Amino acid sequence: MFIGHFGVGFGAKKYAPVISLGYLFIAAQFLDLIWPTLLLLNVEHVVISPGITAMTPLDFTDYPVSHSLLMVAGWGILLGVISYFFLKKFKYSLIIFLCVISHWFLDLIVHRPDLPLLPAEDTIKMGFGLWDHPYLSVIIEGLIFFTGVIFYYKATKPVNKTGKYLLIFLVSFLVLIQIANILGPPPPSVTAIAWAGQLQWLFVIIAFIVDRNRISV
Ligand SMILES: [Zn+2]
Repeated sequence: MFIGHFGVGFGAKKYAPVISLGYLFIAAQFLDLIWPTLLLLNVEHVVISPGITAMTPLDFTDYPVSHSLLMVAGWGILLGVISYFFLKKFKYSLIIFLCVISHWFLDLIVHRPDLPLLPAEDTIKMGFGLWDHPYLSVIIEGLIFFTGVIFYYKATKPVNKTGKYLLIFLVSFLVLIQIANILGPPPPSVTAIAWAGQLQWLFVIIAFIVDRNRISV
């Protein structure tokens, strides 16, 4: 799943108006933000296997650090605790925690049974495989994304043109990348996947700028 996770980040703003959209993106997309680095470090692995699902050619052979449920819970607690140091409010830490773990449960809907419960070789792996049903998965992910965007749009208002138009740009940019992911050719190499994955930090940076130019209502 791709833009669905960003949808969660957008939507969380309604419940945590003091937290910048940039941080909410980091929380909701944390697993996929650290994954490219873990690929480059050879800690985790993916195999390009066209046809493995109708939607994505990627076979997620092992990603115990970024995507095992136990580790995900740990990442959620870590980010929740860090946010507590800054915001001193349990509610906001809980929202950050929920954003982080939401990622695993959204991935669960679309992935093949490749999501490990534990960071161990012989662990149970889960996934409901909706990526083999392209229309349904596009509809569900689109619904999550646009619901989140509407929540964000209603929870904030622009203070200038940047706040207005950069939000439109960010939403369009995310949708465009999602379409390119679905319709484009399989990536040429794992290294290319990893470096393309690093570009997701761009969305985080843009989200910080958007949020600085909007205020909560
Ligand atoms: Zn993921």
